[in-house]
Amino acid sequence: MNRVRCLVLNAALGPLDYKVPEGMEVGPGHVVECPLGPRTIIGIVWESERLPGTEVPAEKLRPLRSILPVPPLSAPLRRLIEWTADYYVASLSSVARMALSSGGALKGPATITEYRLTGGMPERMTPQRHAAMEALEGEQATIRELAGIAGVSEGVLRGLVNQGALEPVEVDCDRPFDEARPDFTHVDLSDNQQLAADTLSEAVRKRKFAPYLLDGVTGSGKTETYFEPVAEALRMGRQVLVLLPEIALTENFLHRFEERFGVTPVLWHSSLKSTQRRRAWRNVASGDAQVVVGARSALFLPFRNLGFIVVDEAHETSFKQEDGVRYNARDVAVMRAHFEGIPVVLASATPALESLQMAESGVYAKLDLPSRFGGAELPAIDTIDLTEEKPPQGMWLAQRLIDGVAERLERKEQSLLFLNRRGYAPLTLCRNCGFRFQCPNCSAWLVEHRFTRRLACHHCGHETPSPAACPECGEPDCLVACGPGVERIADEVAERLPDARVFVATSDTLNSPGRAAEFIAQVETGAIDVIVGTQLVTKGFHFPELTLVGVVDADLGLEGGDLRAGERTYQQVAQVAGRAGRGSKPGEVLIQTRHPEASVIAALAAGDRDAFYEAETEMRREAGAPPFGRWASIIISSEAEAEAREAARRIGDVRPDVPDLMILGPAPAPMALLRGRYRYRLLMNARRSVQLQDVIRRWLSSLDHPPGVRIGVDVDPYSF
Ligand code: ADP
Ligand code: ZN
Repeated sequence: MNRVRCLVLNAALGPLDYKVPEGMEVGPGHVVECPLGPRTIIGIVWESERLPGTEVPAEKLRPLRSILPVPPLSAPLRRLIEWTADYYVASLSSVARMALSSGGALKGPATITEYRLTGGMPERMTPQRHAAMEALEGEQATIRELAGIAGVSEGVLRGLVNQGALEPVEVDCDRPFDEARPDFTHVDLSDNQQLAADTLSEAVRKRKFAPYLLDGVTGSGKTETYFEPVAEALRMGRQVLVLLPEIALTENFLHRFEERFGVTPVLWHSSLKSTQRRRAWRNVASGDAQVVVGARSALFLPFRNLGFIVVDEAHETSFKQEDGVRYNARDVAVMRAHFEGIPVVLASATPALESLQMAESGVYAKLDLPSRFGGAELPAIDTIDLTEEKPPQGMWLAQRLIDGVAERLERKEQSLLFLNRRGYAPLTLCRNCGFRFQCPNCSAWLVEHRFTRRLACHHCGHETPSPAACPECGEPDCLVACGPGVERIADEVAERLPDARVFVATSDTLNSPGRAAEFIAQVETGAIDVIVGTQLVTKGFHFPELTLVGVVDADLGLEGGDLRAGERTYQQVAQVAGRAGRGSKPGEVLIQTRHPEASVIAALAAGDRDAFYEAETEMRREAGAPPFGRWASIIISSEAEAEAREAARRIGDVRPDVPDLMILGPAPAPMALLRGRYRYRLLMNARRSVQLQDVIRRWLSSLDHPPGVRIGVDVDPYSF
């Protein structure tokens, strides 16, 4: 009799064996429907020798229900799933879920019914219906998705369908995407670009695993450089994956892509509608989708014929997933390339120390673009010592920075003021009793947003209208803002330079592709003079008239004592500085700081990247931090404080005693309360020789916990 072992998409269950019904042709990678009790669950047929399970006697096996009509997951993808689960100490099924897009992409008919406004009015108009119809202007999605967008129940929308205000549209999920034309346009590369591009194209032709670090200063033309090997892969009929850190602002990138290849790439990110998700997934699996531009989860898509992977802005922290399977897409990308036997390139102007170390030790080949394209100069960088050049009372910008902005206004050039804090002020309190507004779900202050007149938590999304009176003492109009956010800086610029047209660019204002495109158009046509923005605007943008960048508070990231604080500050400031003077006009960068002598700030001001990396390397070596040592953390959480504390204590009590491994804690995690869960943390620091994952697995498997307790493992955590 024929039996198969399946990895089922249920984290609580191990691999299960099934009987193959007469006439069913099934092999590793097939996605199947498996009976489980009275239900049916999705599973993936796996090589049984790679997936230890219990030997159920043959007569007890139940038959598989069916094979889903999607191509089987390839062997390289199955190896990637195994590696990811193993390295990040996650369950196989939770990683497999990512590859199957939680199953949503697989089942159901090839067409989905979406709805859109007809332009007609319902017979009976209610305030709720009216609000819903306003929110749905220009939208087309399933009823459930529309209900989410409009913030009403599905029932309200069904009512609108019945009354003719919403109409159904059938959408074909299997419809293939347009075909790319690799030689649509041709670009002449500089000598350095050509050298790097030729190396990468050659690697694509060789079809062998080869990791590269493309280390090029801002504006050096990294994108044009990796477009060449992308074209080469397309000419060979192979698929390409480009990972980007900030998928919300890809309009710019997609446009460049379209100009070069005559085709819009397939997008993949977490906020796709279900039709888009299904269509993308199925077309990637069939090979019809030739280029995918995606967020980190695109790494687990079922490519049929992948030929090349690009990780752009590879140093970005958004490549690190912070819940569920805590993986770093930068590293998983290299592993996917390894299993596929193809080249991968990590592109960055400010590579992570880990990546540079890999290049230095010869594991990655390094490609350098040391100068800006077209002879543009890197901007001149200067610091403003805030302890000497104090801003006026109640203000945050030194006179020299304001003068710089005024000068640009006069010359009809543009300025960008960078502060990585959304909202008006990071802390709000009552002037009468000192009450501080705190999030009920998180250890965080609520941030005042004046545009929306709301207080918001930036960790869990909790929001409340700004109160008219203090909830503690009842004093009316008592709110005092402490410290600056981008909205407050924008107010200050408007007050000190009344003629300036100021725009606040954050995820609050650029929250849709349409708004992002509008913003870009406004900057390009000169309708905006001053951009006040968060890290959302530090990368990717190319605005030739932008000649001044002001860093409002360079010390912000250095506080808190996190081991990566220096690197993060260096990267952020260098990236945002890289927005200045990209055209023919020279750029200037002014960095406000209270610590101009700090090594990071000094290196930035001197434009001495090597000095920064050398100091950082020494510091990490001494601390046994990556890449010289390894870190991992174990996060124990529960909705009940005592339960979390107790579970953490029990884990701590049976800590393993292993040479060259140090275990700290348990202690309350840096966010001790997050989204309503109390969190404790144990930190592990080990030499590279320690098999950290094995130690963790053995350690944690010896304990049971109440059902409300969650244990998360973070290997190579970003902050520690
Ligand atoms: P980076 O990503 O390294 O910061 P970009 O790839 O955005 O740099 O390139 C900076 C600017 O130079 C872009 O406007 C780009 O179109 C232009 N550019 C780069 N290389 C070329 C080239 N070979 N020919 C023409 N324009 C180029
Ligand atoms: Zn919160």
